[in-house]
Formats: sequence, structure tokens, C-alpha cells
Amino acid sequence: MTDNNPSHELESEVRSYSRAFPIVVKRAQGARLWTDQDEEYIDFLAGAGSLNYGHNNPLLKQSILDHLQADGLVNGLDMASVAKNEFIDTFSRHILEPRQLDYKMQFCGPTGTNAVEAALKLARKVKQRSGIISFTNGFHGMTLGALAVTGNEYHKEDIYSGNTNVAFMPYDRYVDGVEDSSVLLRKYLEDASSGVGLPAAVILETVQGEGGINVARSAWLRSIRKICDDFDVLMIVDDIQMGCGRTGTFFSFEEAGIRPDIVLLSKSIGAYGLPMSLVLLRPELDEWDPGQHNGTFRGNNLAFVAATRAINLYWRDTNFSGAIRKKSHRVRDFLQRMASRFPEAAFEVRGRGLALGIESRAMPEIANEFREQCFREKLIIETAGASDQVLKFLPPLTISESELEAGLRKAERAMETVLRSKRGNPVRIAGQA
Ligand code: PLP
Repeated sequence: MTDNNPSHELESEVRSYSRAFPIVVKRAQGARLWTDQDEEYIDFLAGAGSLNYGHNNPLLKQSILDHLQADGLVNGLDMASVAKNEFIDTFSRHILEPRQLDYKMQFCGPTGTNAVEAALKLARKVKQRSGIISFTNGFHGMTLGALAVTGNEYHKEDIYSGNTNVAFMPYDRYVDGVEDSSVLLRKYLEDASSGVGLPAAVILETVQGEGGINVARSAWLRSIRKICDDFDVLMIVDDIQMGCGRTGTFFSFEEAGIRPDIVLLSKSIGAYGLPMSLVLLRPELDEWDPGQHNGTFRGNNLAFVAATRAINLYWRDTNFSGAIRKKSHRVRDFLQRMASRFPEAAFEVRGRGLALGIESRAMPEIANEFREQCFREKLIIETAGASDQVLKFLPPLTISESELEAGLRKAERAMETVLRSKRGNPVRIAGQA
């Protein structure tokens, strides 16, 4: 698609979403965006998972406006503040305690990759080992430490990395025909001559978002937990994209019943699209010396205010989780219907909660055509996976039923158009003779 925004002459070539979606956004509300031409789009990308509660959620907005109106602290470095204290108290009371999770909170620089850096450093410091195990197709961010544990070839050029002491193991169901890839990790750690030394930690996503909506089974996650226990290795769960309700529960690992040693949150923890990132660590791992991992923007008080309000609104009972589950069923049913309507695409549908993906086994390259056609239908939706072969459905969790239906209708029309062009003959539209 052409890039027709004159401001781009002054903006670096590194920009990406503005190429995939060449519009200029003026306004946003819930799951809708409006351009400077007043055209309306439905958003199934949700700030890559940073807008789980939608754009400009009015309930959250009011708390932010109240804070600003009262001249509440905005950037506080890591100084104590009323907003921060309220966040810590609310997160502890309504997120950690009900799940019997005992973690301390470390606030990092504003983005997810900062939390990844902090976790890798802390694991290495505590275990006094430098090795890290990551998994195929894992995505953990763009700073150099996080990049070293990221699989994606496009982002990962050798010149950036040096000796990072990271080994990659096969994620769950990475190898066709291998029932349980965790046995390989165990074998590598058992064998002193495997070439993979005892690491400080393993880092993983329970559902790989950027990697293509690859879902690890609970049994596999439990095996990895057990291996970590058996070999005295820390388990870091990167819940930056899949946390804050994306998979239906607050943390994505709840279904598996595991307790990671370290959990990473960012993206939607700031609730309003406001940057915040958080490392949750078992108290006995807190071996940091003061200021040893610091940064200027660790105290985004507007994010604390929005996050506190979001927890109070959405996470004090199970209603929100129930609503996510219902919407998840709706999207999954839709995708499965697409799979049966277009058998020639050999579609595979996968995901959990409102992180769902569809991949054509027969025509993997078609996902980008879907994305472009969805955009023509005025639906913002992204692809994921090693070769962008998965169309990734990631709407705001708060999306209304009517917005969800409108978005799915657009996706359906886009798929019909693309697949009709492949078939070279008309596709029967559902409900029409
Ligand atoms: N970890 C995961 C699982 C992510 O999906 C991302 C971003 O997409 C990151 C880390 C990096 O977060 P950020 O882009 O905020 O640095």
C-alpha cells in the first residue's frame, strides 16, 4: 500500500504500522478510529495489545482527568506517590492475593523490553550464571538483551548481538510429530556435553503473540516448570502481550496452574495506552542493590491512576473474564466457519481468549492479502508469525458486541474477496442463494 502522508518525509524509514495502515488518525474511542478525513475504522489490533480496555475508555479517562485537574504528580522517577501507593495496594489486594501469588513489584522504564532486560539481569545476578534459554518464535522486544532472546530473523542480525549466551529450544508443538518438546530441554540440561550449559533462567510466552499465536499447552508449561525446579533454573513468563486479561484470565499462566518465578507485564497494565512496565518477582529473588536497574521514566503516575481504576472496574469479580470468554467463543466460531467455507485454504484456527489467529496451510502468504483487504474494508488487523503468515485477531477486550460483529463482517468480506480471486470463480455468500 502507498504511504501518502507528507510528514513521513521527515520520519525515519523505521516506521512500520503507518505503512501497513496508511491513514492519519484523528480520534479514537473504544474499538473505533476516525481519520483526518472522518472515515471510521474498526480496530482489531488494539495497540498491539496495549489497549485491552479500548481507546479513551471514558471510565478510565475520568480518573486521569481528575488526577491532572488536582495537579497530581505526573513523572515521579521512582519516588513514592499517592498514585503509586494506590496502584501497589490495589494490584496486591485484587490481583495477587486472590491468586495466592506472592510477588514483589519492580517498576521499570516505560516499555515491555525494559522489563525483559531487568528480568534477564536479575536472573543472572541471582543465579550467578549468564546462560538463558529462550524458545523458537519467541518475541521479547528490541533492546539488545531482549533481542538476544527473540527468535525472529528479521529483527535479529548477528551484528547486534555478540556473545549473549542464549540457547533456543523448541516451543510446544514446534516440531511436527514431537509430542512433548520439553523432553529435549531436560535432555540438554542433563547432558554435560550437550553444548548448552546450565542457564540462569528460561524465558517464554504462554501464547506467542508476535510469533504467530502459538499456544503452549498447560501440560507443556507444567513440564517446563518442573524442569526449572529440578535444575534450579528460574522460570520467567513474559506476559507483556498475553497478560491483563488477553487470554481470558488476568495472567495467561493461570489455566496451567503454574507459578513463574518472575512475571513480566507491560502494554495493557497502564490501562489507557499509557506506558508502564512491571517485573513481578518472588521476594527472595529481590537481590537488587538500590538503583542498580534504574531509569528516568519508572514513575508514570497517570498510568498508575489508570491501572488502579482498571483493576477496580474489571478485576474485582469474574464478570469481565466471563465476557472475554463469550467474545472469544464468538470469534473462534467465526474463524472455524471461515475454515469450513474455504477448505481449499486449509485454515488452522488457534489461540486463547481474545488472542486468536488463522493461518492458511495451503497458502500461507495469503495472510498479508487478507490484512490489506481488511484495511480496504476499514478494519485494522495485523499479521504475525515468522513470515507474517497468521492473521491475528486482537480486539480490545471491552469491544461491544455490535463492534465485534461489524469487525467480523468486514473480515468475512475481505476473506471472500481474496479467496474468490484465488478460486477464479464466485464464492457463495453465506445466507444467499
Ligand atoms: N514481550 C512481548 C511478549 C511482546 O509482545 C512485546 C511487544 O510486542 C515485548 C515484549 C516488547 O514490548 P515493548 O514493545 O513495549 O518494548
